[in-house]
Amino acid sequence: MDTAKKTKLFKISEVFNSYQGEGTFIGRKALFIRFAGCNYWDGTEENRAKSICTFCDTDFTENFKVDFKDLVDLIKYHIEEATLIVLTGGEPLLQLTSDDLSVLMDAFPNITIALETNGSIDTPIPVGIHLVVSPKVKGKLNLKWFHECKVVLPGGWADSKQVLDLFSNISFNPNYIAMPEDGGDIKEFWKIATELTKKPGWRIGIQAHKYWNIK
Ligand code: SF4
Repeated sequence: MDTAKKTKLFKISEVFNSYQGEGTFIGRKALFIRFAGCNYWDGTEENRAKSICTFCDTDFTENFKVDFKDLVDLIKYHIEEATLIVLTGGEPLLQLTSDDLSVLMDAFPNITIALETNGSIDTPIPVGIHLVVSPKVKGKLNLKWFHECKVVLPGGWADSKQVLDLFSNISFNPNYIAMPEDGGDIKEFWKIATELTKKPGWRIGIQAHKYWNIK
């Protein structure tokens, strides 16, 4: 019997320096680690329309694999003067465990680590990770708490009630940010966003990196 433990390899799409264009940390210089693969869409145009998430604008194709040590070294090599690491995807929680996140925090104690997820995978997230959820209308919100929630509108949402119902079981008080869908109906955006921003914790935001013409 082969008892050797296989080294876990992370499937990575890309690693790049940029500025965070959305949410609480907007404008901060950041190192983005894009994990490959998503449970809401397989990334192919032929399957887009029948997927849970239909408006993805991200290429999360796998480009290389690294073990955990190489992942840390990769971050050290690319971090430059960034004070923020953004773990994004695809869906990074398909690959990252609670232990992985804890070890990453230990490796970069002076750097904020944010994790962007669609909220479908209920993994224990260590305190100290800034958790950002972007739920989708046909998806499931299984995470019970997060710091920040970005809802892209219209994005298929029928009305503000449908959006708010999604958060009815969330007791923690996160920031909620309504963002206009790229190329979406801006009138529909305002119709829902106006109602949402009457509720505590809600504000509107943008995807500023698209205006800044950066990644
Ligand atoms: S959940 Fe996020 S990464 Fe996955 S298909 Fe949708 S927008 Fe893209």
